[in-house]
Amino acid sequence: MDNNISIEKSLSILSTNIEKARKSSPIAANGVALLAASKAQPIAVIEEAIGAGVSCFGENRVQEAQEKWPELKKRHPSITLHLIGPLQTNKVKQALSLFDVIQTLDRPQLAEEIARLEALGMSLEGKKFFIQINTGKEPQKSGVFPENADSFIHMCRELKLPVVGLMCVPPVDQPPAPHFALLREIALKNNLSELSMGMSSDFETAVRMGSSCVRIGTALFGDRK
Ligand SMILES: *Cc1c(COP(=O)(O)O)cnc(C)c1O
Repeated sequence: MDNNISIEKSLSILSTNIEKARKSSPIAANGVALLAASKAQPIAVIEEAIGAGVSCFGENRVQEAQEKWPELKKRHPSITLHLIGPLQTNKVKQALSLFDVIQTLDRPQLAEEIARLEALGMSLEGKKFFIQINTGKEPQKSGVFPENADSFIHMCRELKLPVVGLMCVPPVDQPPAPHFALLREIALKNNLSELSMGMSSDFETAVRMGSSCVRIGTALFGDRK
């Protein structure tokens, strides 16, 4: 990605390409949200993206988000903030007070901790959850294995967690399409409408395969420092 082109220009190219991919496929979603993956981006750069029209952001780390987002959210209350990195059980409370959407619900212990805090009075009103699926069954990656997805989704529903969809990060060394197809199949089977899939290198494939949320870092901001 050319680091000299502006965020505004990158956003316009991305939007055009998302729309083109969407129109080319009968199984594409009716609308695709562009989530700006703003890890390692300073507040000034995030402000530039907001100025260009981005309204949805994703951060990977609770602590980094806590350093950047309280003031940004105060200035821009309509922004939705997603957690797209792993969530430690002892950070759930902080995460729920900062993020609107948690895309990385990935284990029973985490689901139980969220339900426990809710029972203690922490409101989940307006919150949304995605379950992360480890479609490539990579040991270093978080996410529920595909064969355990149905039972984990069921468990989250029993706990009354507002789960809206599934998220995946395919292995870097494999074609992403079969992983996107698997994610979609699990979502359809379980009546979940949202699919968070697709990044800078593969978002067009993801959109053609039904993504409702692409998570874009490099193609919007340029290479991370
Ligand atoms: C960083 C990140 C992205 C964006 O990656 P790019 O390749 O820079 O677009 C998307 N999803 C997750 C989970 C990430 O950590």
